[in-house]
Amino acid sequence: MHALTEAAIRRSMVNCSRSEAAALTPPRDLAELDWASLDVLGWRDAKAELRGYLVHERDGDPIGIALRAADTKMSSRRSAMCLLCHSVQSAADVSLFTARRVGAAGRNGNTVGTYICADLDCASRVTAVPPSALHLDEELQALAVEEQVVGLHKRLQAFTADVTRR
Ligand SMILES: [Zn+2]
Repeated sequence: MHALTEAAIRRSMVNCSRSEAAALTPPRDLAELDWASLDVLGWRDAKAELRGYLVHERDGDPIGIALRAADTKMSSRRSAMCLLCHSVQSAADVSLFTARRVGAAGRNGNTVGTYICADLDCASRVTAVPPSALHLDEELQALAVEEQVVGLHKRLQAFTADVTRR
């Protein structure tokens, strides 16, 4: 994705009020991020424990979604899958997030919920070679990574479409 400033991140938010967007805590070290390799910028709000954000690009424009994490954690003895990046990890590292829908639906309390990596760092997980491909040669490993990236992109677009459907 293209590099974003703090102001651009705040402007990109589609499902929260202007004052909420103004109050959000952007990720640290924005200038040092390797934007070109990022498919989505996801982070938890350092000052508001249950809040998190996903910013990605739709038709070339940044689009940000504000999320709220469930305040209960799942058990670390079980495993769970992030429904955006499809990585499987300890259930304690996956959280149920809800996003308020845009427009009248959102004002009426309508939300979209899904399970996502608790740290919202799906972008870095999809660039790692999946365990199922570790025994394959380099070319096939690259293909497996590419499939993960494409999958994340597709599911993120679908989630965004749900949140922004009027
Ligand atoms: Zn994930």
